[in-house]
Amino acid sequence: MNEERKTLEQRATMTDIERLRHSASHVLATAILKIWPEAQFAAGPPVENGFYYDVDLPHRISPDDFEKIEAEMKKEIKANRPFERVEVSRDEALELGKKGRLAALSERSEPSKYKLDIIENIPPDETISLYRNGDFIDLCAGPHVMRTGNIGAFKLTNVASAYYKGDEKNPQLQRVYGTAFKTKKELDDYFAMIEEAKKRDHRKLGRELELFVFDDDVGPGLPMFLPRGAVIAEELEKLAKETEFGAGYQRVRTPHIARESMYKKSGHLPYYEDSMFPPMILIEGADEQRHRELYRDLLVRRGSSAFLNSEDPLHELEMSNIAELESEMRALGTKYYLKAMNCPHHHKLFAAVPRSYRDLPLRLAEYGTCYRYEQSGELFGLMRVRSLQMNDAHLYMTPEQFEAEFNAVNEMYLNYFKLFGIDKYLMRFSTHDPAKLGQKFVDEPELWKKTEEMTRNVLKNSGINYVEVPNEAAFYGPKIDVQAWSVIGREFSIATNQVDFSQPRNFDLRYKDRDNIDKIPICIHRAPLGTHERFIGFLIEHYAGNFPLWLSPEQVRILTIGDDPKLIDYARSILKELRAHQVRAEIDESSDKINGKVQRAEQMKVHTMFVIGKRDMEADAVSVRVHGKGNLGAKPRGEVVADILAAIRKRRA
Ligand SMILES: [Zn+2]
Ligand SMILES: [Zn+2]
Repeated sequence: MNEERKTLEQRATMTDIERLRHSASHVLATAILKIWPEAQFAAGPPVENGFYYDVDLPHRISPDDFEKIEAEMKKEIKANRPFERVEVSRDEALELGKKGRLAALSERSEPSKYKLDIIENIPPDETISLYRNGDFIDLCAGPHVMRTGNIGAFKLTNVASAYYKGDEKNPQLQRVYGTAFKTKKELDDYFAMIEEAKKRDHRKLGRELELFVFDDDVGPGLPMFLPRGAVIAEELEKLAKETEFGAGYQRVRTPHIARESMYKKSGHLPYYEDSMFPPMILIEGADEQRHRELYRDLLVRRGSSAFLNSEDPLHELEMSNIAELESEMRALGTKYYLKAMNCPHHHKLFAAVPRSYRDLPLRLAEYGTCYRYEQSGELFGLMRVRSLQMNDAHLYMTPEQFEAEFNAVNEMYLNYFKLFGIDKYLMRFSTHDPAKLGQKFVDEPELWKKTEEMTRNVLKNSGINYVEVPNEAAFYGPKIDVQAWSVIGREFSIATNQVDFSQPRNFDLRYKDRDNIDKIPICIHRAPLGTHERFIGFLIEHYAGNFPLWLSPEQVRILTIGDDPKLIDYARSILKELRAHQVRAEIDESSDKINGKVQRAEQMKVHTMFVIGKRDMEADAVSVRVHGKGNLGAKPRGEVVADILAAIRKRRA
């Protein structure tokens, strides 16, 4: 959580819903003061999905108090009071604070201590303003909605403790959370979505459906896919390979590690170092010999220093010799890093062969495995992991080819969205901040400008749904993050797309142009299916584990009614036929009752069940049951099998 005070620019870009939610936090404070007039307030900003206000109060607020507080909030909203803005001098603001009049309904015996502290931290040239609704006056830079009545629907959701300014040396406050919307319907939809999202939680379904696991001995953030989960990854990979093949990509394969020198060239070191695993040091060749010598010397010197009195000047000399030996030892060897990105390896492959303009665009693809160091507190199911398999590709092109290539990439995204039934998406076009050139972003002001302009034009002309976000680009170029909403309206960032003018230079990538002059290609990094980890996490929640047939871990389960040997033979012959066509089919020929078998298959969300009884066998038929749809009746075996194969081939929803 960002505890910093919002800048004026950030305030100016507050969205309508953020204004509404921030206004609701004033109403919350008003209500709390009606019940506990002594309450002291700190900060009350809008946050993702709601708002909070930090309050210092002897009474411990619990969810049992919410009804009472909400009733007071409702009164304040019903009164439809205007939010009035008053600008005051610093002295006036301090005076009110000392009288306890800030974030209060009236003057009080205790000063408004947090508000006084906040005033101290307002830059001297900034205007100080108050906002008033009814008797409640708060120190606030705004903005707000016009009247309390504009808050259509709200609900308090939670109370937690939080240190003032996030610092544990400061007093502990109670953070009361709520959410607010323009209408009651939006509020209801939001809570319905939260309920549904809980049921669909990919961590819960991942366990229940035996898709993936974590293990302490393997390490946090390092998911392993069980066979049922691996199937989904394989199917996605197959989809990517087919699609990319059709779009003129070529596949490559690269190792998971590389020497430090490569990441210095790419700029990942130092720009990206915090996100990489620490290096492995390999001592070999001449280094090995030197290492042995140093080690021997070190032992000798340590031994002799042990006989010296620490007062002896020789002792000090010996200690500095030892330190020198140790530092030389540490500098020996080659550092190897686990790759955090596939790009540098792919650039090396571009450079491995002389390239001419005739070879461009060159599109190198790989489902590459990368390792990223994420703080353990940030790890979350499959969404935030330390090992990831990425639907990666790097496209190298001339500037003239950029528009067509970038459009084709976007087209590929949109086709995937259609296939997965993703109706709502947004591309966040992240650009650089000129003030941070050379720190956060490579110091190439002209190239930044040119590339961002080119990218912006393509996005505009293609009519794609996008927003522009400053200061969030990758260090080597503008970036497009793709956010998608699952069917229940939950938001996921699933993919990225980057335009890179910097790495091809660092790697000295060149192609011979028509005019016989060596030129540097532009590179697009793209990963429409993101990583297996995050995309599968998304799909689990999107489909609630009810995968379409082509993605289903178990596509067909054959259930026999009874265990008559002739019936079992018939069922097995169907199994054999399905498997011969690569259908993931299983058979349940146990002697359990058919209802039990159906229930077990339903529980594992098996897509299609063939229920085989004596009558089916005699008619060379099968009775079909589809998960979530129930019985579809008996059909000729040949027809059913052909249907299944066609649905899989067409990746029918
Ligand atoms: Zn305010
Ligand atoms: Zn890349």
